[in-house]
Amino acid sequence: MEQATAQLHTPRSVTLERIVDETPSIRSFWFSDVSMHKAHPGQFAMVWVPGVDEVPMSVLAIHGKNEAGVVIKKGGQVSTALWEKKPGDLFWVRGPYGHPYSVGHHHKLLVVGGGTGLVPLLSLLVHFRGRDVTLITGARTASELLFKDWLIADSKEHHFKLVFATDDGTYGEKNQVPKVAETVLRDGQFDAIYTCGPEPMMKKIYDLAMETRCHIQVSLERVFKCGVGICAACVIGPYLVCHDGPVFSEAELSGMPEFGHMRRDLSGKRVPLNAGH
Ligand SMILES: Cc1cc2nc3c(=O)[nH]c(=O)nc-3n(C[C@H](O)[C@H](O)[C@H](O)COP(=O)(O)OP(=O)(O)OC[C@H]3O[C@@H](n4cnc5c(N)ncnc54)[C@H](O)[C@@H]3O)c2cc1C
Repeated sequence: MEQATAQLHTPRSVTLERIVDETPSIRSFWFSDVSMHKAHPGQFAMVWVPGVDEVPMSVLAIHGKNEAGVVIKKGGQVSTALWEKKPGDLFWVRGPYGHPYSVGHHHKLLVVGGGTGLVPLLSLLVHFRGRDVTLITGARTASELLFKDWLIADSKEHHFKLVFATDDGTYGEKNQVPKVAETVLRDGQFDAIYTCGPEPMMKKIYDLAMETRCHIQVSLERVFKCGVGICAACVIGPYLVCHDGPVFSEAELSGMPEFGHMRRDLSGKRVPLNAGH
């Protein structure tokens, strides 16, 4: 048991088996790892690029025997270093870590994703098969809609409602995700909402949930250093996001005045949510 825990916390090298261009700015990286394959929806891996840094990434484990993936948006230092990897290259992972989404027994569910925030929600969809599910997901433009073809095929096979939104109207509804969610929420009473994406989007969805008296679970993003609840780089209110989250319920969110407004930068200083690192 102790050995298994130690193995979870020690960075282990994995070989990249497949790399898929999902959109012009997002790639998925697939590898075999028994522990990551067993990750629960909403859990994350600490992904280390030696000489660069280590960052948290949602784990996607929806197909293959022992296969797991991370889906990375090209941006700054670490994500760009990962993007340059080729099949056969190594990278290092710890975990899976964190408090996942609670799947619960509610029947009528609204799932709302934005950008790479869709990643932990895909594993949830698999758990929700047989329930009455509506998924809303969006992007700036059609080519940036993540997993579009997979979602269309899966929604037909497993009978969930799928709503796409694009800011420029090149696919689905011409609107931003929270606006689409507002219409959907006002048209029908849902038992619970599950969301992951940019925090301003999630704050709007949270406010709508409170207004319509609906349960909600939100996955938060903060600077994670240790990833296991020791260093407190990710503190928000009384919680450590890496250890007590990243998924939080409405009861926990109500005790976090920083949610939707403030975060901590790399030095630990509290800064407005939209300030740079
Ligand atoms: C729970 C969770 C899940 C995430 N899942 C995904 C995912 O599926 N796909 C995805 O693309 N991104 C995900 N992220 C965001 C990811 O961790 C990085 O923030 C993102 O890739 C930007 O890193 P960068 O080096 O490219 O960016 P930059 O903006 O250049 O970051 C500059 C430097 O800041 C540090 N840094 C940045 N973000 C973090 C962080 N969150 N924790 C610790 N140090 C950081 C690193 O040293 C980095 O090199 C997730 C974050 C969290 C908390």
